[in-house]
Amino acid sequence: MTTAWYRPTWDLALDPLVSCKLCLGEYPVEQMTTLAQCRCVFCTLCLKQYVELLIKEGFETTISCPDAACPKQGRLQEHEAHRVHGGG
Ligand SMILES: [Zn+2]
Ligand SMILES: [Zn+2]
Repeated sequence: MTTAWYRPTWDLALDPLVSCKLCLGEYPVEQMTTLAQCRCVFCTLCLKQYVELLIKEGFETTISCPDAACPKQGRLQEHEAHRVHGGG
């Protein structure tokens, strides 16, 4: 029996990297969160830190898109905020 769990590194290169507007890092798409309202994309880590800060400040219901230059001035929907904040 051979185990095939191992993923060769060249396979990783096929995953398109998405850049985060907050930390300017590039990550695989599964580590990113897209805001439903404005379609802005941020890495889940940045979004989590941002959401946690705003929740701590009491802005849980009015969390706007972390991108100050967001063309749509989008807001995080409640379930999105809870998803990044709660972590399941
Ligand atoms: Zn980021
Ligand atoms: Zn946005």
